[in-house]
Amino acid sequence: MIAVSCFTGRTVAVFGLGGSGIATARALLAGGARVVAFDDNPAGCETARTAGIEVADLRQADWTGIAALVLAPGVPLTHPQPHWSVDLARAHGVEVIGDIELFVRERNRTALDAPLVAITGTNGKSTTTALIAHVLKAAGRDVQMGGNIGVPILELEEASAGRIHVIECSSYQIDLAPSLAPSVGVLLNITPDHLDRHGTLAGYAAVKERLIAGSRMAIVGVDDSLSAAIADRAGQGGTETLRISARHPVADGVYAEGSSVWLAQAAMQTPFVDLAPITSLRGAHNAQNAAAAIAVCRKLGLSDEEIRGGLESFPGLEHRMEVVARAGRVLFVNDSKATNADAAERALASYERIYWIAGGRAKAGGIDSLQPYFGRIAKAYLIGEAADAFAATLDGRVAFETCGTLAEATMVAARDAGRDAHDEPVVLLSPACASFDQFPNFEARGRAFSEAARSAASRHAGQEVA
Ligand code: ADP
Repeated sequence: MIAVSCFTGRTVAVFGLGGSGIATARALLAGGARVVAFDDNPAGCETARTAGIEVADLRQADWTGIAALVLAPGVPLTHPQPHWSVDLARAHGVEVIGDIELFVRERNRTALDAPLVAITGTNGKSTTTALIAHVLKAAGRDVQMGGNIGVPILELEEASAGRIHVIECSSYQIDLAPSLAPSVGVLLNITPDHLDRHGTLAGYAAVKERLIAGSRMAIVGVDDSLSAAIADRAGQGGTETLRISARHPVADGVYAEGSSVWLAQAAMQTPFVDLAPITSLRGAHNAQNAAAAIAVCRKLGLSDEEIRGGLESFPGLEHRMEVVARAGRVLFVNDSKATNADAAERALASYERIYWIAGGRAKAGGIDSLQPYFGRIAKAYLIGEAADAFAATLDGRVAFETCGTLAEATMVAARDAGRDAHDEPVVLLSPACASFDQFPNFEARGRAFSEAARSAASRHAGQEVA
């Protein structure tokens, strides 16, 4: 844990007592601050009390004695309207910040040159953060990974010169971190998302741009126009800027053509790696993530061999196009995180012969937008509440079967895929739906699929031996 000492002897209000709020309170206490914590949810207050943190209703607090309000990133700062704690803080001239800001202030005080890699973007943040951390670790570097992924930032080890912090930042976290100035800042992409919390697309993009504007070195995906404009402005402002693309060559940076990743330096194009054999990095979206990771790791001084080795051994993230089993030529892929058609599209675009398990609690728009990929689907296995609606879309275009449960769908799909002569038939769970009709969350759905897939694969292995 990091002891935050920039508020020693002063009182800090902490609002929002989930994992990162509790970690924040403990980090401030360890650094000698007084903390008053609160949450609208009594369960959060209870957790804090149990952890020995002072809980008090901040509506009744004396704000004249409070030095800062540390807000959990899930609590509205501006839109749809500021949370009441933000209004109170502002009315009393109290600054409103987040846990990443505390980390950055501590780092600036104790280890200003400690390498800090901060990653943002609408999609691919977790994959890219995990990939960068993995490649660095595989090369023997001292790495701390956290932020919006895994561990709250203040639960990590403190910054030091030889230690690299790799931090995933959501737009909410950037909004609460005015001093964030990473050694390497990564912006992957910007598409409309979370507009309820940022007002407009321009407002959302402006928050993401702040991470890049503060960076000593910027690595920016230029496959959407908002991010491309941000790269241009960073370059014009004098920031060393590398561009990445999964669509077209760039002049200076890293780009992918299909699965081939190329380096572009001083008008020279050099092949770097072919991602096709790396099952955890399939698809154009992962080519973008890999290009970003390559650019970061080269900047941090890894050799090309070290980077290639790290990419090859990347296990991927759970529930995101995760290869969970293989039965002969048949691959089983868990993409349970794909809770809407947009995310499922990425998986459908990544494989050629698909036995597709889809359905659950439907989202608006259904799967109409996936029509361009129907030719890749050998057969669909429909589960959950959305089965009838999906069947209506597929009818006459794609063979399908309604299976009811995920276990049954996996079994039938495994059997059909096993009879397919294609080089690599894929049994793919990419549901394009929420899981809540049949599972507590997408993780539980993914685990259920993985179990069913592994038992199908072990049955196959048994048959081969027999
Ligand atoms: P985030 O942390 O930004 O939510 P993840 O790495 O967890 O992103 O990936 C979530 C989903 O987003 C993946 O399952 C995939 O469908 C999609 N995705 C991943 N990387 C990208 C990318 N670079 N561009 C577009 N979509 C992506």
